[in-house]
Amino acid sequence: MALYVLVLGSAAGGGFPQWNCGCRNCAAVRAKVSGLLPRTQDSVAVSADRRRWFLLNASPDIGKQIRDNPQLWPRSLRDSPISGVVLTNGDLDHVLGLLHLRESQPLSVYATARVRSGLERNVFLRTLQRFDGQLRWQTLELERTCELQTAAGVPCGVHVTPVAVPGKPPLHLAADCEPALEDNVALRVRTTSSGVLTYASAVADAKAALPQLQGSAALLMDGTFWSEAELPDMGIAMGPARSMAHQPVGGPEGSLAALNKIDAARRIYTHLNNTNPMLDPDSAQYERVVSAGWEVARDGLKLTVE
Ligand SMILES: [Zn+2]
Repeated sequence: MALYVLVLGSAAGGGFPQWNCGCRNCAAVRAKVSGLLPRTQDSVAVSADRRRWFLLNASPDIGKQIRDNPQLWPRSLRDSPISGVVLTNGDLDHVLGLLHLRESQPLSVYATARVRSGLERNVFLRTLQRFDGQLRWQTLELERTCELQTAAGVPCGVHVTPVAVPGKPPLHLAADCEPALEDNVALRVRTTSSGVLTYASAVADAKAALPQLQGSAALLMDGTFWSEAELPDMGIAMGPARSMAHQPVGGPEGSLAALNKIDAARRIYTHLNNTNPMLDPDSAQYERVVSAGWEVARDGLKLTVE
């Protein structure tokens, strides 16, 4: 049984273009310069049967993502093929979509205890808990494989193993909590007979995470920034990539170098920030990535992991 994968969104927080950004990339994509594709914020859907889908992260762009992917359209009066959501961290670009999935639809939500407790500090979450059984929390425990279930407890043939990778708590909680291993996970996803999809959209240190990423039929990897000083170099008042717990792709200290011998049949960068020069297929950076055997994700990319 294969694992079916839909890349719903391939941009980092803010999307591409970002509403308040006039950088070269954002201006070019608004002007519909050929080769540059708009992208929604990072989210992936997975399924073993192509009937019941689980979102890996819930992006604020989920409404558009559902409209763009008929696999996620209702099949009856009140229905959704989306059975649940698996969260990798508490970053807003990964969790805000949960609040768009209300309208009394039962959902299974998988998160580490740490990520759940951060979310439960927000009263908006109560809109997903209007009646018993609307939101079924399931705890992700590091290194423990679970088979994803619907809110009604029906197993769906998708097995997920969360593994800790270097990251950080979400920005809005960073001031009042110490970093912990469960702040940020990668997900190793498979059916009982498929290869492994590894989804690692936030990785602060690819070399340290390498054992967790190895042995993948397909790897979706943090490609947020090309360079460490990408934002400050453009005059944007933000810290280096490191301060946001995203190791850049390029340079001798980048993830492309750190993962050059990784055992992964398909290697795909995703979670691309709008400033990243890799978004332009005519750029030298795009060429570097592709010539090293990597792909650059785009919205609508479909994978079948056998
Ligand atoms: Zn921009």
